[in-house]
Amino acid sequence: MGTIAIAAAVILGISFMTFVAFFGRLPALRNTPISFLHRLIWIHLPNAVLAVDRTLTNGRLTTSLARLARHLWYDQHPTILIFFFLLLSVGEYLYLPVAWPHLSSVHKILGTLAIFCPYLFLYLSAFTDPGTVNPETHVREMARYPYDFTLFHPGTSCETCRFLKPARSKHCSICKKCVGRMDHHCIFINNCVGANNQRWFILLLLSTAILTLYGGVLGLGIIRQKIQARFPYWTLLPWWTSTQAWEDGSLDFHRWLVLWSWGLQSGVAMGSVTLLALLTTPLVWGLLGYHLWLVYCGTTTNESMKWQDWQAEMDEGGVYKRRIESGRVKDLKVEPAWTRWPVEAEQVMVRTDDGKPPRSSHRLPGEGEWEAVWRLKDVENLYDIGLWDNLVDVFLPYFMFKESKGRSPVDEREFGRERGRNRRRSS
Ligand SMILES: [Zn+2]
Ligand SMILES: [Zn+2]
Repeated sequence: MGTIAIAAAVILGISFMTFVAFFGRLPALRNTPISFLHRLIWIHLPNAVLAVDRTLTNGRLTTSLARLARHLWYDQHPTILIFFFLLLSVGEYLYLPVAWPHLSSVHKILGTLAIFCPYLFLYLSAFTDPGTVNPETHVREMARYPYDFTLFHPGTSCETCRFLKPARSKHCSICKKCVGRMDHHCIFINNCVGANNQRWFILLLLSTAILTLYGGVLGLGIIRQKIQARFPYWTLLPWWTSTQAWEDGSLDFHRWLVLWSWGLQSGVAMGSVTLLALLTTPLVWGLLGYHLWLVYCGTTTNESMKWQDWQAEMDEGGVYKRRIESGRVKDLKVEPAWTRWPVEAEQVMVRTDDGKPPRSSHRLPGEGEWEAVWRLKDVENLYDIGLWDNLVDVFLPYFMFKESKGRSPVDEREFGRERGRNRRRSS
């Protein structure tokens, strides 16, 4: 019983403190013990440390600690990447020597694959350029997507990088650069998840999800065999399978747990890794599901937050849309002449401060009457072109969805290489 209780207490404790540290400031938790604990962690404890340090070292220690914290929080560094790599490797080092002799040759082959894939996709996610926007790639990134006149408008520049922001790009304050179709900055890969490495990131999530589930289930099977070899009446879920021992009371919940713990303790290292794998499995599958859902919706983590902001504006009133003429003349100073995307913006959406339709309409893009918008589902998402094509866009980031009209000579030069590659791919 001891091992399970300690492991469960430690995991629960860490989860609770993480929750307090990140969510304790939420307005809903004001004046609760959680908000008090949050203040203790972020205000009272640091102040106490500061006071002690001022008397002991004249504040030198806290100054360097603050510098370290700033570096860890705001700069690119591989600490969490190394932690993730070690978690995988140490887990496998503890698990495999015990589990390997129990595995059939099929499981040995599948297991080797399951272990190898996360390393491969971790490497590819971390070291593939996510789609950096710089002077060399700017033309290419501008031609990736058209502006949708809803989330992304032509003519806005990045204040740091000093060039026009391509549609769907975002400046990452940690990598200190703009990234094409930015999803989010991921500390586990120490890199942004962007247009060029999102495929590797999704495969990393998929392979890790398979590894934790597969390893957890195999480990559980080995522990079960071990317990049943000694106590044949023990089963994994006796209340479901309603065994003889459960019904006549010779196996009750307490004894079931005691035998569980006996099974775990006869191979503590493998047992702990199995428990950890089973506990993290729902989290990893959940993350994978979330990212596949974003692909299905044709959006990114960054854009889904923008869509939420729009929903909040709509709830308050004062959001309007109108049509954009299909054959409009583009302002080539701020908009790319053509993109690889199969569709162009058909609507422009604006918010007004007084809740009334925009008055000086002639300076805004689009034509015709303004129509009030109250729900997100009444708005067109230009970047959702159906599940299959959304997947193609994620997995083949330079795929040309159509032969674009009106290609300018500059684009011909810049895109020669990529177009050649895509032609081969589609033939
Ligand atoms: Zn930037
Ligand atoms: Zn980043």
